[in-house]
Parts: sequence; structure tokens; C-alpha cells
Amino acid sequence: MKKTQDHSGPQCGLGERAGWALATMACGWAIACTGPRAQPASSGPRELNAALGSVAAPAADPSSQAASVSTPHDFVDVARLEPTLHVDLRYATENNFTGRVVYPASARCYLRMRVALRLQRVQHELRQQGLGLKLLDCYRPLSVQRRFFALVPDERYVANPNKGSRHNRGAAVDLTLVDAAGVERVMPTAFDDFSERAHREYMALPAEAIANRARLEAAMVRQGFVPLPTEWWHFDDRDAKSDPLADVRFEDLAGQAAP
Ligand SMILES: [Zn+2]
Repeated sequence: MKKTQDHSGPQCGLGERAGWALATMACGWAIACTGPRAQPASSGPRELNAALGSVAAPAADPSSQAASVSTPHDFVDVARLEPTLHVDLRYATENNFTGRVVYPASARCYLRMRVALRLQRVQHELRQQGLGLKLLDCYRPLSVQRRFFALVPDERYVANPNKGSRHNRGAAVDLTLVDAAGVERVMPTAFDDFSERAHREYMALPAEAIANRARLEAAMVRQGFVPLPTEWWHFDDRDAKSDPLADVRFEDLAGQAAP
């Protein structure tokens, strides 16, 4: 099993912010960007769905309060900044490998303004080639990650909330390539395919999938993104380490994020 240490980020003590009630959050799935590619032998989506539906949200741990979790003031709804971007937040639908809606209806693709502007430049470049981006996951509240880890405390499959994911910093994005009509191009795998086939060095693929993967990666890298080796769809902002973890709810971001 290949660990993706680069994606974990520095370890930080985390705490639940008062007033951001975990109980009101949708459950979250953190495996999307955390690690090994195979399905867990004993904790597959079916079992996890059962857990998500029956286990109450864990209480906040006062001992884990930390200043490293902050309220983001520079989050932006990327689709409002750049309306030509296609957005399909898969965790806001049942079309994800849990088969459940895990984000509220108010969820949008929020990223740090710096990250959003870089993504906008990628989009402009791709549009000149008759292509574009479809965004699949962006900012993910830390409480979503924490709740899920409480249900499945296995770092092989779920990012440890004590480390956090760069998605929790508003500085990572999952996306794919689309044509001018918004139709997804052929890629090595579907989103959230946790197998070696999703690795960037995997080459036993149709030439078209390899070419599209390379084209997407090159466009992202040119504008300052760092590709995750084990997931062709995941990119970190190259300055993500400077961004604090965030745990604001989507419902609250809907009222304050710029523009
Ligand atoms: Zn990701």
C-alpha cells in the first residue's frame, strides 16, 4: 500500500469551534485524497454507509482546541469568479462511491482566492484549446473529516483530522477535463477510483486517457499546482502549507464568501 504522505500536510492539533455544531454537518468521506487505493477489506462503502446512518456525531474534544483552525476570510465561490468552469460537487450528490449525499445543498466549490485565481488561469488557457475544467471537490470542512475518522479510524483509508487534508485548507481541488460542450474527456479511471490505475505513472491505458491526463496535469502545473502522484484528479496549490486548516460550515460560507 502506498501512503500519500505529501498530501497529509503538517500535523496540527485540531479542535471543534464552538458554534459550528458538528451534529448539523453532513457526514464526510475523506478517503478521496488520503491514501491507499484499494477498498478496505472490512470497511467498504456498504459498511460505512451503515455506520454513517447510525452513528451520532462525536462530541467535540475540548482538549484538542487549537488556534491552527481558523475562519477563512479569503474563500471564494470559484464558479462565481469564473462562470465558464463546470462544477459537479460529487459529495453533494449521491454520485460518489458512498452512494450518499454527504455535503449540504448549500455546498459550493470554495477555494482560497489565490488558488481560485490560479485555477481561473488554467481555465482560460484550456478554453483557448477548446477544453475546460470540471471541478469535483474543493474545500472540505475539517469537521467532516473528523466525523468520518471517528467512524473509521484507519489512516489507510481516511485522512487523520489531526493532520488534515489540503482540501481542509481550501487549497486543493479535484477535477477533470471537459470539452467545449462540457462533456468529460476520457481519463484513466472514474473519480475516486482507489486503485493503481489512478496513479499518474500508470501507463497500461488507452493512449487517449494518457494524453488527457498529461494535458490536464501540464496545464495545472504551469499555473502553480502540484499533482498528487496517486490520484490523477487531485492537485494541491503549491503554497498550500501556508494556509491554515478551516472548519467553517458550507451553510455559513454561503453568506460570507466573496465575491
Ligand atoms: Zn482531492
